[in-house]
Amino acid sequence: MLNYICINCKSSYPLESHQWKCDCGGLLSLEYEKEAVDFSETFLSRQHSLWKYIDALPFEKEDVWQEITLGEGDTPLIKISENVYAKAEYYMPTLSFKDRGAVLLIAMAKKLKANRVIADSSGNAGTAIAAYGARAGIQCDIFVPDSASNKKMKQIEAHGAVIHKVPGTRENTAKAAIAMVEKTNAFYASHIYNPIFREGTKTFVYEVFEQMNGKMPDAFIIPVGNGTLLMGAYIALRELMASGQIDKMPKILAVQAENCAPIEQAFAAGRNTVEPIDNAGTLAEGIAIAAPARGTEILQAIRESGGDIIGVTEESIIHARDALALKGIYVEITSAVNYAGYLRYIEKYPELKEQQVIFPLCGAGIKSD
Ligand SMILES: *Cc1c(COP(=O)(O)O)cnc(C)c1O
Ligand SMILES: [Zn+2]
Repeated sequence: MLNYICINCKSSYPLESHQWKCDCGGLLSLEYEKEAVDFSETFLSRQHSLWKYIDALPFEKEDVWQEITLGEGDTPLIKISENVYAKAEYYMPTLSFKDRGAVLLIAMAKKLKANRVIADSSGNAGTAIAAYGARAGIQCDIFVPDSASNKKMKQIEAHGAVIHKVPGTRENTAKAAIAMVEKTNAFYASHIYNPIFREGTKTFVYEVFEQMNGKMPDAFIIPVGNGTLLMGAYIALRELMASGQIDKMPKILAVQAENCAPIEQAFAAGRNTVEPIDNAGTLAEGIAIAAPARGTEILQAIRESGGDIIGVTEESIIHARDALALKGIYVEITSAVNYAGYLRYIEKYPELKEQQVIFPLCGAGIKSD
C-alpha cells in the first residue's frame, strides 16, 4: 500500500490521482510499509548506489528504477579537519545531491505511466529531473527563474527538457509551473511538494551511518532553502530511532544565507510557522527561498533534534568557497554556505570543536557561472 496522506486532515490519495496537495490545502506526506535497513547486509553489498537501501524505499527489488538508475549515491566522506567530515554530494551523476530525490521521483512517474512531468527549480533539482526524465523517456517541462545560472540551464537543456524561463522571484517560477500542472494534469515532479523526493534524500543519512560503522556524528550541518535534504535527513533519523538502531538524535544545525533567511527568522522569534520575507539578494541562489512551503515541518524537525538554525553573510560564503578550494574541494557558491555555517557554529558553540560534525558538499564548483 502506497498513498499520499495529508499532514493536516489525514485524507489519503492514491498515487495515480496525481494529487500534489490535499483538497484542504494541506501538504502531502507518503504512507507505506517500509522495513528497517539491515546495515550488516548493505555494508557488504557490492551495489554502490542508494538502491542498496531498497527495503526502506517505496519500490520493489525488481522494478522500473533498474532502467533509470545512473549509480547515484554512495558518495565519499572527506576529512576537513579533526572530527569534521564533508559528504561529497557533487560526486552524483548530475553533480548535486538532488539526484537522490529525482531518481525516485522519476522512477515513480514512470511506474505511474506518466509521459510528461513538470517541475520548477532554481537549477539543480531541474537538472536532476531532466537527466532521469531523459533516461525514462519522459518529457520534462522545467520552470526556472530567468536569473538561474547559465551553466545549470545548459545542463537542463542538454538532457532534452523544455526550459521555461520565468521573470521575477523564485515564487513566480513556482506559480507558473503550478499553473501548467493544473491546466495539463501532468505529474508534478516537485522536489518540494512531492514527498517521494525526500524518501530519496533520506539515504544521505543511511550512508553516513554505514560509513561511520553504525554510529552517528554529534551534529549534521544542513543548508536549507526548501528543506528537501533536511527533511530527508530527519525522516531517516526518525526511522533509525524507531527501529532502535540509534538511541539519540544527532543535532540538525541548519544554515541559511542571512540575506534570505525566513526559517532562521521564524526560529529566532520562537514561531511555529514561517512568514514569507523579501529576498535581499544572495549569491547562494540554490537556497534563496523567501517563502518555503514546508517551513512548519522544517522548524519542527530542527527543534526535535535539539538543533539550531543560523544565517551566514555573503562575505563568509565567498571566504568559505575559497577556503574549500584551497583544500582541493571545488563547490558551487551555494554549497560554500555549509562550510561558512560550520565556521559560524563553532564560534557560537565552542564545544562543537570537540564533537563529530558532518556537512554536505551539495553541488559541484563548475555549476556556478
Ligand atoms: C537544493 C540545494 C540546496 C538546498 O536544498 P533545499 O532542498 O532547497 O533545502 C543546497 N545547496 C545546493 C547546491 C542545492 O542544489
Ligand atoms: Zn487535508
